[in-house]
Amino acid sequence: TQAPVNVTVTGAAGQIGYALLFRIASGQLLGQDVPVKLRLLEIPQAVKAAEGTAMELEDGAFPLLAGTDIFDDPKQAFEGTNIALLVGARPRSKGMERGDLLEANGGIFKPQGEAINAGAADDIKVLVVGNPANTNALIARSHAPDVPADRFTAMTRLDHNRALAQLAKKLGVPVTDLKKVAIWGNHSATQYPSVQHAEFGGKAIADAVDQAWLENDFIPTVAKRGAAIIEARGLSSAASAASAAIDHVYTWVNGTPAGDWTSAAVASDGSYGVPEGLISSFPVTAENGQYKIVQGLEIDDFSRARIDASVAELVEERDTVQKLGLI
Ligand code: NDP
Repeated sequence: TQAPVNVTVTGAAGQIGYALLFRIASGQLLGQDVPVKLRLLEIPQAVKAAEGTAMELEDGAFPLLAGTDIFDDPKQAFEGTNIALLVGARPRSKGMERGDLLEANGGIFKPQGEAINAGAADDIKVLVVGNPANTNALIARSHAPDVPADRFTAMTRLDHNRALAQLAKKLGVPVTDLKKVAIWGNHSATQYPSVQHAEFGGKAIADAVDQAWLENDFIPTVAKRGAAIIEARGLSSAASAASAAIDHVYTWVNGTPAGDWTSAAVASDGSYGVPEGLISSFPVTAENGQYKIVQGLEIDDFSRARIDASVAELVEERDTVQKLGLI
């Protein structure tokens, strides 16, 4: 039988953690034949709550769960880990400037990057969920110089899934009929959910919906969905974010189907005019455990302007953390 895969989850006592851990334990992250060992990282004041979650995980009697350990020290939490899900982050509080937010998160993601560099397994794959996810991933990566840059990713799969759901509803087709939808740029309100190359049942989606719906309804609905959920639920989205994190890692490990792609924020190689090294969302395929940016797509003027706007925000975030000495 296979040795358990070590999965580290930070912010494990939070809302997303609560939804995520049970899905990992049930085998949905890596597959129904892969045992997992959970390593939970929390800040000291949340360790007790994490212990409660660990008790519930134990009570699930999951056949694939080989154990759960809890840490408040990143060095220990990332020791020997194969998959790291960085969920815990410093949320923006009232009156906080973006620079302050980035600085507070630098204090979290810098030591985590260092700990991953020092102790993670050679095949480490990192997904950053905690916001501002793209730039947090950039900070962590810059403190892990021995880890290949393509192992650090940030989550835009929830945006991708939200886009699929809105399109399926509009077109009256199941989500499984949709192909080649893409999220570009930052996981923020500037993100660009694109249907420029998207298809349903072999037909172009761009021909089936009008531009006004795309601009005034679809794009803002996807980009502002998080706020709409807070408004309705009184809490931020958690189960859907956890579900997308599961999808992101499952696809990374198991691949994308032929003739389709998904979306993930990965280190830019300079494609599509996105400055090299920025962690930006692209249409990506996965094969042999690697995400690759889909190459050679024609970008129309509308898409160009939207991509450039979101990438400009990422450049600004990068410049801010550079000035703060965080990268
Ligand atoms: P959640 O579990 O709800 O969210 C965690 C992070 O995920 C936030 O940064 C949140 O960003 C982000 N996120 C990304 N996508 C989404 C989405 N679609 N919907 C909602 N959130 C999204 O936060 P909680 O406050 O419940 O829990 C956070 C936990 O992290 C706490 O237990 C805290 O102790 C812990 N923590 C751990 C750290 C560590 O391990 N070193 C460091 C810091 C905190 P946004 O705020 O923008 O919604």
